[in-house]
Amino acid sequence: MYKSDFPYFSNSDITYLDNGATTQKPQVVIDAITQFYTHYCSNTHRSSYGSANKATMEFENVRKQIQSFINASSLETIIFTKGVTESINFVADAFVKNEFDTVIISSLEHHSNIVPWHMQGRNLHNGLEVVNYDSNLEFDFVHFEQLLQKNPNSFVSITHVSNAFGKIQDIKKITKIAHKYGAVVMVDGAQSLVHFSVDVKDLDVDFYCISGHKTFGPTGIGAIYIKEEYLQKVKPYQTGGATIHEVTFEKSTLLDSPYKFEAGTQNIAGVIGFGAALSYIEDIGYEKLHNWEVELYEYLHEQLLNIEDIELYNDTTNAIGSKSFNIKGINHDDIGILLDKQKVAIRVGHHCAQPIMQALNIKGTIRASIALYNTKEDIDKFIKALNRAIGMLKD
Ligand code: PLP
Repeated sequence: MYKSDFPYFSNSDITYLDNGATTQKPQVVIDAITQFYTHYCSNTHRSSYGSANKATMEFENVRKQIQSFINASSLETIIFTKGVTESINFVADAFVKNEFDTVIISSLEHHSNIVPWHMQGRNLHNGLEVVNYDSNLEFDFVHFEQLLQKNPNSFVSITHVSNAFGKIQDIKKITKIAHKYGAVVMVDGAQSLVHFSVDVKDLDVDFYCISGHKTFGPTGIGAIYIKEEYLQKVKPYQTGGATIHEVTFEKSTLLDSPYKFEAGTQNIAGVIGFGAALSYIEDIGYEKLHNWEVELYEYLHEQLLNIEDIELYNDTTNAIGSKSFNIKGINHDDIGILLDKQKVAIRVGHHCAQPIMQALNIKGTIRASIALYNTKEDIDKFIKALNRAIGMLKD
């Protein structure tokens, strides 16, 4: 249905089910980037001739677009970054490091939301707490509240959607409880915007990280929403050109947000491409997108249930996008190789979420992750290839 919007599919006969890693890009995104480089390539916020003004205007229009896309209160709250990894590292370093005794994360975090805390010297015995999960990978709210009671000066950093298992965590409930205890909440939204709409005001999050390349946009671009009350408290973590009001050999004075946080030449083409990706989603509409994905996700789950010796880790409750599983007695890496030979692109391994793999006592999983353009035929091809691979490995 939507594949014709994405040139990758006319140039490739791959059944692409690795959307958790990155999504394909629609022609409109590629066109927007090409248009920038071929018609008005100039730096932003510096020079005042025609194409430079246009570049600045297009760049800032995307900030406006993101502001309204996630219902943020003002333009100042939207800061461009390279992606979710950079956003988390930025907040970890420029805000959390010296302010909070404890960081609380969920069990389903990506390494991007674990390693930065370890780099601060935090671990399970000192400054880092991990919320338990149940047999369907649901977030344990009772445990969460106990952790908040035990650690009065906490920063909560939580993924909205697990990249490995597709589990959606209830962010609204998490912020409500966290705020009751005076904790501040950051959300890793790498896997959310491609599947459903996000309203940062309704969720009442303090920080929300988004990723361009997981949302039909270019690689190397993302953004972070910072609630207004934190804009002065967060220190810029890089400074230099474009962040300053005035510089003498004596001292530098910084501009206000967002500019004080955006040092150096920005990924202008990336921002413009990201804007086109968000317009693409807007044109389709989240309701249509989400309904189709829910149907597809249920279908994928049902088809997997028919496979002998399948080991699933969660059902479809509060889940979207990624589906992880194993086949008893078969190494996931072998399945990856045999699916590749049959032109099916999935991911096998730990999915940058080693701690939850260890907790589940597995080395990794086979993960199929869907996006808007996937079809039931894609899933049928995947299941057929999977059955063939299992047959070969069991012989
Ligand atoms: N968090 C999650 C849940 C992810 O899935 C990923 C990427 O796989 C990241 C963070 C890192 O995002 P980015 O590639 O935008 O740095």
